[in-house]
Amino acid sequence: MINKKEFTEILEFLEEHIAQIDMVPADDVLQNLWQTRLANDESALRENEFPLNAAVCLVIEVISDREKKILPTIQAEQLVLRYLDQQSIHPDWQQIGILPENGDIYVHLSCRIALEKMAKLVTDVVSLASWDNKECPVCGDSPAFACLEKGQGKRLLVCGACLTQWRYKRIGCAFCNEENPEKLKIVTAEEFPGWSATVCLTCKGYLKTADLRTLTSTPNWYKAVMETLPLDYALTLHEKST
Ligand SMILES: [Zn+2]
Ligand SMILES: [Zn+2]
Repeated sequence: MINKKEFTEILEFLEEHIAQIDMVPADDVLQNLWQTRLANDESALRENEFPLNAAVCLVIEVISDREKKILPTIQAEQLVLRYLDQQSIHPDWQQIGILPENGDIYVHLSCRIALEKMAKLVTDVVSLASWDNKECPVCGDSPAFACLEKGQGKRLLVCGACLTQWRYKRIGCAFCNEENPEKLKIVTAEEFPGWSATVCLTCKGYLKTADLRTLTSTPNWYKAVMETLPLDYALTLHEKST
């Protein structure tokens, strides 16, 4: 199983490699298309516009680096497509001779990092100012985190898939829109200063929130998924007891 140090190494390796992968910059046609979709309340990217080639390159690189195995492009592509479809592809990894838990992390991070780069191309050229939905304006996925901006503490949601950030109303569940304060509980934990979680009693959803007014720096969201896991366990217990 991959520990925290190895996870960071893999993350840094992939971040370094994505910088060397070219993605076509947005031309006017693409820019208009994205802007039009957003104006129609649709996410800028469709599922079939996922940056497959970049993700495949990363998977090949990271597996060569960590496992000393050279995957043919076609095989890496199949792995990525199957992963996108199923989220976990243990039999495939067993066949290749890679520990399934590790394999899932390689492909998971590769896909995330490729999509994050693509999302940056989008947010560089379109405005998200009028977007007020709870789904990601770029890829349509759900938020994984929220953060409160420095200064006025306005709330931003952070996409779980592409890490795009967008403004969202300060009060209200980001999953079911519940706005009744009695149904929304704020939970904090001493071990996580600067973090809180809004728990919704209506849909049982919860959203971890980083308060950038008190944290020294913006969290690395990939690492935050791992580092705030104890908070998730605490929240799951909390949920069971209510
Ligand atoms: Zn997204
Ligand atoms: Zn809710």
